[in-house]
This record gives sequence, C-alpha cells and structure tokens, in this order.
Amino acid sequence: MTAKKYDWLVVGAGLTGTVIAERLASVLDKKVLVIDRRSHPAGNIFDGRDDDGILYHHYGPHIFHTNSEMVVSYLSRFTEWYDYEHRVRGMINGRLVPIPFNLISLQICFDAARAGRLQEALIRRYGYGAKVPILSMMKNTEGELRDLAQFVFDNVFFGYTLKQWGMPPEMLAPSVTARVPVHISYDDRYFNDSFQRMPVGGYTNMVKRILSHENIDVELGTDWASVRDSSFYKKIVFTGPIDEFFRCEFGALPYRSLDFVFQTYAQSRHQPVAQVNYPNEHAFTRITEMGHMTHEWEGKTKVAIEYPTAYTPGISLPYYPIPQDDNQNLYNRYRDFAAKEAPDVIFCGRLGNYQYYNMDQAVAKALTIFQKQICGVGEKISV
Ligand code: FAD
Ligand code: UDP
Repeated sequence: MTAKKYDWLVVGAGLTGTVIAERLASVLDKKVLVIDRRSHPAGNIFDGRDDDGILYHHYGPHIFHTNSEMVVSYLSRFTEWYDYEHRVRGMINGRLVPIPFNLISLQICFDAARAGRLQEALIRRYGYGAKVPILSMMKNTEGELRDLAQFVFDNVFFGYTLKQWGMPPEMLAPSVTARVPVHISYDDRYFNDSFQRMPVGGYTNMVKRILSHENIDVELGTDWASVRDSSFYKKIVFTGPIDEFFRCEFGALPYRSLDFVFQTYAQSRHQPVAQVNYPNEHAFTRITEMGHMTHEWEGKTKVAIEYPTAYTPGISLPYYPIPQDDNQNLYNRYRDFAAKEAPDVIFCGRLGNYQYYNMDQAVAKALTIFQKQICGVGEKISV
C-alpha cells in the first residue's frame, strides 16, 4: 500500500484512535498513519446527511454528555457546541412514561393515592435526587417499595434487556442496568451530567478536524490484516477487537450487534421526544428521531428503529462488549497475553479494552493513555 514510513500506525479511525493520533502528531511531532476497515472515519459516531439533506447518526443515536472538564476542553478545540438535553419515554401499558423511571413516571403508572404513598416512601428511604439501580432496589426493599421495584423491573427492564442482550438483567453485570437508575426526582432528563451539548455540524466533522493535522495520513477501507506483516511503521495503537488481533487464539470474545432500520416520514414530527423505548412489545428496542437532536425540522423527519442481533463477524458489527464475568475473564487473558507477546502495542477503545465506554470515557481514556503510557508522564493531564 504505502511507501512512506511512519512512527505510529493507529488501527481504527473511531474516536479513540483519532484522539491518540492527534496527540502523537501535535504534541510529539510523530508521523502517524490511521487506517480503518470501513470506508469512512469516526467509527460508530459517524454521521452525515441523507438524500433528503437530513443529518443522521448512521450507527444509532449518539448524545454527548460528560462531567469531565478535561474532555470538554480537549474536544472544544475541534468543534463548537449547541445545547441538547436528551429525553426518553418508555411505552408502558399503552402510555408514554419518562425513562429513567422517576417521580413523574410514578404518577402516570399509579393512581394518585398510591403514587403519593410511594413517592413519600422513596424519598424517606433514599432522599430526593437519589439514583437507585433497579437490581439494588429489588434486593434492598420490602413491602410497597419492593412491589414498585418489581413493577419497574418487569415493565421497564426485563423485556428490553432480553431483546437488547438476549438474556435477562440478572445475567449481566449490574453496571448495565445501573446506567438507567430509578431517579427519585422530577428531573426527566436521561442524563444529569454538567455538560450536555452536541457538536455543531455533527460528529464526523469534529473527527475530521481532529485528524486534519499535517503529520497524520488516513487510509480508509484498509484492514489491519492487510498491513500486519508490513514494516512501514514502528509502533501500533490498536482500537479494533483485541481477540481479533491474536486471531482469536483463546476463542472469540462475544459482542452484541444491532440492525438499524431508517424511515423517513413526510411529516414534521413522528414522536414527542427524541427517543421512545418499547420494553414490552415489538422486536425492536427503541425508535429515535433525529430532528429532536439536531433541531433541524425541514418538513420531513427521519427515525432509526433498533433491532438487536447476534454478532457475526463479517456480517454484523461488534457494537457492544457483553459485560459478564466469563467474558471479562477471557478479555483479561487476552490483555495479559498482549502484555507478554505484544508489549509495544497499545490496545484501547471499546473494542481494544472490551469495555462499554461512552464517548467521553473513550476520549478521557485516550488522553490518559497518551499521557501515561506513551509520554510516561504522571497524574496531571494537560490538553
Ligand atoms: P469505534 O467507534 O468502534 O472505533 C473502532 C474503529 O476501529 C472502527 O471504525 C472500526 O471499523 C475500526 N476497526 C476495527 N477493527 C479493525 C481492523 N481489523 N482494521 C481496521 N480497522 C478496524 N456514547 C455516548 O457517549 N453517548 C451515546 O448516546 C452513545 N450511543 C451509542 C449508541 C450505540 C448504538 C453504540 C454502539 C454506541 C454508543 N455510544 C454512545 C458509545 C460510542 O459509540 C463509543 O464510546 C465510541 O464510538 C468509542 O470509540 P472507539 O474508537 O473506541 O470505537
Ligand atoms: N434498559 C432497559 N430499559 C430501558 C432502558 C435501558 O432495560 O428502557 C437497560 C438495557 O439493559 C440497556 C441498559 O439498560 O442495555 C443500558 O441502557 P442505555 O440506554 O444506556 O443503552 P445504550 O444507549 O448504551 O444502548
């Protein structure tokens, strides 16, 4: 492929690979080649306009939210932002109920007397503003609160998780359902982070700007397999699946995948909020409507309908590592093997670390890896 020599090869033009490439190029003045097997940069945060001119997220809705000043300060060098707070409703017994389940949800699901009693009991038990993972509420309550926990588990979590992961909530690490805790509050936002904004012009434009350093070349449609035996680079950052790097020597790490069905309607709005979850009916889990997130309403509206599927290499994409003990143990085996057999390769990102990172976590991790592993500098990260 290339005759040029590089200091670093970065495998994967997703957010993780992009941030590390930029740091290598601009802080250390290294020559970097970024490759990606897909025909576009940005990995799963890729977005772009369709034939109707509607900006949409090709791999599912991506909402940026963080409490990290370091991440905001870094990304703000490559994008401006507009305000956006995500709101989600779940279809429960024919009614649209705020998710995460909160004090408003309580009033919609129960008669006034019961909702009042439950609200009082929740505030007495946890305090106003608390966030309580459903599995913990199931374990640690009795009487009417236990019944409530069971109701939320049955109506919000059970069916959705079965569809999303192909198994019930108890079989997954508790951190999965703890992402959407019961919120003892009237705040109906999906996230409560201090920074909830979206990049003006979309994620792909932001990523392209991060990659636009003169020391960085990008080759798309290029698989790691086609360059793994080459010698035009000295060191590697690998953000693809760690098991694939070692040809699945200890067995394949399992992932969950999704099929997205996009529909465009000749009407201005399809649903009242950006995201409606369907825990208890249909084969899909959620429908998201782009216009709510982009604030662009041009007479037509586009939605993404998400159908969870098994992951089959070459056919579907490995979107979600599956957080379970056995999988973590298998990942640990690859990680330890990598430390011995490929000590100069840096494995990172959702696939390299087999971790369910949000975008801000992916960026924070990339900045930390650059500073600590590549520069060997201590605690304080400056961007
Ligand atoms: P990726 O984006 O997966 O990038 C890895 C790249 O490596 C890919 O482009 C891939 O093609 C490439 N690659 C892999 N193997 C090879 C190979 N052998 N050769 C060449 N290239 C290779 N986060 C949020 O903060 N908010 C959200 O609302 C949100 N919603 C999400 C919704 C969905 C459906 C999914 C799946 C994720 C969501 N995320 C969200 C998480 C977000 O997508 C990740 O944090 C982010 O994409 C991680 O970036 P990454 O670079 O680590 O991984
Ligand atoms: N979840 C659920 N019902 C919901 C929303 C979420 O059961 O209405 C569970 C489900 O297991 C899901 C997890 O909580 O995979 C995390 O939800 P999140 O919205 O964070 O999923 P992601 O956006 O990462 O797909």
